Amino acid sequence: MQFLLLLPLIFAACAPLRPLGPVSETQPVPTPVATEPVHEPVPEPQARDLDPGQIINVGVGFEKDSAAIECPEQKWQFKARENLGRIEVETKGECKYGEKTYRGGWAVLSTDSGLAIINAVPIEDYLKGLVPHEIGKLKPEEIEALKAQAVAARTYAYRHIGSRKSQGFDIYADVRDQVYNGKEGEDSLANIAIMATAGLVLKYEGNTIEAYYHSTCGGKTESAEIWGQEGKPYLQPVSDSAEGRVFCELSRYMKWEEKYSRAELVEMFQKNAADARADKIFPFSKIQQISITERFPGGRVKKLAVSTDKGSFEVFGDRTRRLFTREGKFLPGLFFDISQSGDTFTITGSGYGHGIGMCQMGTRARAREGQTFEEILKVYYTGVSIEK
Ligand SMILES: [Zn+2]
Repeated sequence: MQFLLLLPLIFAACAPLRPLGPVSETQPVPTPVATEPVHEPVPEPQARDLDPGQIINVGVGFEKDSAAIECPEQKWQFKARENLGRIEVETKGECKYGEKTYRGGWAVLSTDSGLAIINAVPIEDYLKGLVPHEIGKLKPEEIEALKAQAVAARTYAYRHIGSRKSQGFDIYADVRDQVYNGKEGEDSLANIAIMATAGLVLKYEGNTIEAYYHSTCGGKTESAEIWGQEGKPYLQPVSDSAEGRVFCELSRYMKWEEKYSRAELVEMFQKNAADARADKIFPFSKIQQISITERFPGGRVKKLAVSTDKGSFEVFGDRTRRLFTREGKFLPGLFFDISQSGDTFTITGSGYGHGIGMCQMGTRARAREGQTFEEILKVYYTGVSIEK
């Protein structure tokens, strides 16, 4: 049956493909796991599961009708067919999908809704196409930050093998998991950091941890309770400051402000209430008050109450960012205050991203000040060990 699907074609015969840009939350500081991650449950990976040659299946794209993978020796064209399942593609060398070249091998999952394009790549090579996109291309004085990022991202990868099983792969190549662009944008310094930490992951009591990280904490990190999850002992609120100075203070998101008119908020809240999982959803035409009624131990907004002409509703934790979605962008973070003057509401906030685990901008500052990647990781992940 597969011959119907796998038609090696000559190069000129292929239709242009939709470019695959990473899905970015706002811009330009990359933030993985930008909002609440929805994963399928996977067993806690044990030490014996960590294989240095481990292959990870990365979902690098989805095509409704057709797709092409261009390899040095031939070009493969795929057409969507109902429920054909997973097709392993035998390729030699580095192949191109869309505008990007990738290391590793390929599989295509054909279902009645389209084609999932899967890059099956050894984890250490996967990291080369990831680290520079997640923390940026850094200078030699920040190499310890690159090492910390490599260890956190490797830990995340091992932990999430199998977490997207129903999609047919392990991990998304965008902010739903970690931004991965194949060979595009690889960086020699990041590659050195990856090799210098090869195989190292973060463990707590012998188990590979859930290594969330984010762009800018704004002074203090938060626990995973902002997603309504049970707290984890290694993901606790920790201070990201010393001697009265916040490590991530150079981030452009250290301080931010958003202003809204009362009328604009009525429209936004009506539109966003379901996505923000408001406890009650009803039509209203006026907003009287918006108040923060409870905060998490790290200081982020836990409950936000909105009173309207037709009654009140409430939103919880990280979903609050979605209540304020404007032009497709969530609120940068949950570390904020809200004030009101006449018909204008002003939110002043600090930080970017969910605030859980490693703060990338703080990590960079710590590296410049001489902290090692082990020291940095142990600040943000409480009580962990770093081992193979
Ligand atoms: Zn920070």
